[in-house]
Amino acid sequence: MNIIQLHDQVWQQLRARRAQLPHALLITGQRGIGKFDLARRFAESLLCENVTPAGSACGSCLACGWLAQGNHPDLRLLQPDALAENESSEAVEGEGGGGRKKASQQITIDQVRGLDAFLHLGTHRHGVRVVLLSPAEAMNRATANALLKSLEEPIANTLFILVASEPHRLLPTIRSRCQSVPVRRPSRHLAVQWLGQAGVNDAIDDWLALAGGSPLLAVELAGSGERALLDALLAQVARTEGFDPLAAAANLDKLVKADKRPAPLKRTLDWAQKWLFDLTLASAGLSPRYFLPQASLLQRLARATDTGKLLAFNRKALQYKAQCEQPLNSRLFLEDFFLNYAGLFRTS
Ligand SMILES: [Zn+2]
Repeated sequence: MNIIQLHDQVWQQLRARRAQLPHALLITGQRGIGKFDLARRFAESLLCENVTPAGSACGSCLACGWLAQGNHPDLRLLQPDALAENESSEAVEGEGGGGRKKASQQITIDQVRGLDAFLHLGTHRHGVRVVLLSPAEAMNRATANALLKSLEEPIANTLFILVASEPHRLLPTIRSRCQSVPVRRPSRHLAVQWLGQAGVNDAIDDWLALAGGSPLLAVELAGSGERALLDALLAQVARTEGFDPLAAAANLDKLVKADKRPAPLKRTLDWAQKWLFDLTLASAGLSPRYFLPQASLLQRLARATDTGKLLAFNRKALQYKAQCEQPLNSRLFLEDFFLNYAGLFRTS
């Protein structure tokens, strides 16, 4: 199964737009379902010179050769440097990377301004020109306004494809210039097939639940070593007795500092938020969304707290999330978090 088959319905809708291409598309849906891959396949199919009957790129024409090498002159890909770097991180691992400047988490205004020449030259293959921008919410206001200028003056044979998991964070003026293409979470049946094909055969439902039902994210989590971080967090938050917030913070902090993948503190906090979400569901008598194997434990913990406290802590967790994008002392941050977490529960 490929990404087109995973999202067949959306693919058919995209194909139907080929005859009369809009100026801009906004592809939305939850994280980890393959929106970007789908958008890329569509861009490739528009640039291919010998499209297959199923509407995908042929993979063998001159244009497809350029696409495979990542240098088709009529395609521009705009994404944060940090993402582009991640994709090639395996290649550069082991170089230390010590004094290297931290890659941007944002699409920069220079990247958007850099489109000017591209947009106003003729296309190289006399076909369409595509700008693929992902994730579109990774733009600050100035960058978004610079992009808006290009979106406001339609250019012939030019398609902008914006991909966003959080479209509400885009400027309304940007959203209104785009035709919206919502991508739904694939069915469990398709998702399970996808995981099996990627070699994930154990605890499939657990991984899918942890990924909120997103198959690509589930595969990424299963293969990422994220389990170590997650298990360490669970070992702390899932304690019913003898919880020591400062020791918990010290333990987690060690792992966070040793983790070489991007944003370990933020990832830890993302998991903690999901845990709180499930705890809140449990306190309302509902089944967990993310932590399926811990269902009965969540119920037990929920009985030792109350919904009001949990909702207040959920609100606080949003502030934590905003804070942890700034550089800060991770140990103090975790201590504060766990002290508040401990405060949720009545001591027996
Ligand atoms: Zn081709």
